[in-house]
Amino acid sequence: MSISMYNMTQKQYSDLYTKLYNKANKIICTDKPCQTCLEPDKSGYCCFRCAHLSSTGCTVKALYCKVWLCTSARLAFPKTACKLDGIMRRANKYLLLKIRASKKETLSQVYRIMALTKK
Ligand code: SF4
Ligand code: SF4
Repeated sequence: MSISMYNMTQKQYSDLYTKLYNKANKIICTDKPCQTCLEPDKSGYCCFRCAHLSSTGCTVKALYCKVWLCTSARLAFPKTACKLDGIMRRANKYLLLKIRASKKETLSQVYRIMALTKK
């Protein structure tokens, strides 16, 4: 049973983010839709010029990036896309999707919105 987002504590939000991120990460690691980038002409398409990109890859746990696939990857890996879409819908319901954002950045935004709705 899911809890109303308005009744959730910050700890519950934090745990939900981690849970969804880990689920998506497991799917990506197992199915490997991006092992060979299917958009080679758009070099660095996904992470291009992102502030969180380092020489060794992404430095944060970005849920939105983990559940997003380009059209080419979606077409080549439809089952993977379907599984990720399920996580994306759940994350979206709880406002946990923020483009190119870390967990801290995403949750800060959620907490600000929650504070505003309680005023
Ligand atoms: S989502 Fe598409 S563009 Fe991004 S890394 Fe995967 S295959 Fe490449
Ligand atoms: S936050 Fe997203 S776009 Fe930025 S480096 Fe990480 S995975 Fe790439």
